[in-house]
Amino acid sequence: MSDDDRRLIAGRYRLAERLGAGAMGEVWKGEDERLNRTVALKQLHLRTALDAAGAGDLRARAMREGRIAARLMHPNAIAIFDVVEEEGYPWLVMEYLPSTSLADLLATRGSLPPAEVAEIGRQVAEALAAAHRSGIIHRDVKPANVLLADNGVAKISDFGISRAAGDVTLTATGLVAGTPAYFAPEVARGSDADERSDVFSLGSTLYHAVEGNPPFGRPDNAIALLHRVSQGEIDPPRHAGPLTPVLLRLLHPDPDERPGMTEAGQALAAVATGTTAAPAAPAPAADPRRRRLAAVVVAALLVLAVLGAGLWFLLSGDDQQAGGDTPRPSVPATSAPTNPATSAEDTTTTTSSPPPGTSSPTPTPTPQGNPDEQRMAAVRDYYALLPGNLEAAYARLSDRFKSTRSPSFDDYAAFWGQMSSVQVTNLSPAGGNAVTATITYTYASGGTTTEQHIYTLVDQNGQWAIDSQAS
Ligand code: ATP
Repeated sequence: MSDDDRRLIAGRYRLAERLGAGAMGEVWKGEDERLNRTVALKQLHLRTALDAAGAGDLRARAMREGRIAARLMHPNAIAIFDVVEEEGYPWLVMEYLPSTSLADLLATRGSLPPAEVAEIGRQVAEALAAAHRSGIIHRDVKPANVLLADNGVAKISDFGISRAAGDVTLTATGLVAGTPAYFAPEVARGSDADERSDVFSLGSTLYHAVEGNPPFGRPDNAIALLHRVSQGEIDPPRHAGPLTPVLLRLLHPDPDERPGMTEAGQALAAVATGTTAAPAAPAPAADPRRRRLAAVVVAALLVLAVLGAGLWFLLSGDDQQAGGDTPRPSVPATSAPTNPATSAEDTTTTTSSPPPGTSSPTPTPTPQGNPDEQRMAAVRDYYALLPGNLEAAYARLSDRFKSTRSPSFDDYAAFWGQMSSVQVTNLSPAGGNAVTATITYTYASGGTTTEQHIYTLVDQNGQWAIDSQAS
């Protein structure tokens, strides 16, 4: 390292080693000689040429953005201590965190388990939520800006720096600098970043961490990538397990349908601690083309099954009439008759998507019998409608449930669009109007999750409706 490298910045900060360089600047470890503490210093590149007209404005904006970011103090955000100018370049003086960036970690490990990703996401979301409450937008949430310390602490860095450095944002000519891999679709289409696009970019970051790739893949040219991002059609997650519903909500193509950052943090915390709420709630933005493809495949399989059954019928003559093991056509199950003798429901109800254009049989009305049996039947009937008969199932949720967990039918439909079947087992009364059940979701993309839930039911217009659901 040359003596020049060890120069003094703003008469106070002594550069030591260079930590690395990114699209927006070089980062150095240094010493604040006045306060005698280690700091990190980032020299902003200002990618728009400094000698161009307006360079002064850009410098002023960099200083202003740095000062705005310095207002934020949060245990999960890299603190900005100072913004100084040296030889015409703005420098940010930051908290030094011995760490590895999430991008570097993913480069070596490929991907991380869902619970670990959820915990990183929780911490970052809490910092971003605090920033949003202070009116600060990050604008460039991505794995390279998430720093991970050895003690498990995650901190987000580079608040507002993309704008300060004139980077990442789309220019008036439609050119893009930096990588749009973590952009929200509306930002890729030219809108300014806001709280909602930060939510999406956090989703993209966590998606990359759990899947090993960003949600729009890695097309090798930036324009092709930008086009994909602007369409908002992500590759459905395949390895996210219990993190899937949260990811899909964060990555909703419609900014208004995404949760706020505080809610995102809570949902991530629930996954991190294993207390995740069931996805009867809203969500996702599954790729509509893939959903259509899945529907076509299901329809084709059903046609083959019907043809096969017909052939079998012709070939086997009347024998099958007497057979106890006659194959049954595969249709979504409707409510099984309640056995009044059992207090706990042992039957397993599995339902799956019907072919497009058909509707599932309507479950039998809530049976007569004691109220516990009626409530268990109501839960079983609800899931018997899913994922094929969404309107009827949605009608079985109370208004309170809808407003708190699934206000938009589109979200509800999008969530169930990623499921191929759902199975209800171990139905049991839980006192009062409550019922417990084990729910196993099977994703169209493969994989299952099993969750234990407590449902509270409410009498709505003479029928039991699901009023709340907890884990
Ligand atoms: P970009 O500029 O596109 O965001 P980047 O995030 O990869 O790119 P920098 O932010 O310039 O790169 O960081 C370069 C290196 O410095 C990374 O290895 C990062 O881990 C490290 N680093 C950044 N900030 C700090 C900090 N406050 N404390 C310790 N190391 C840091």
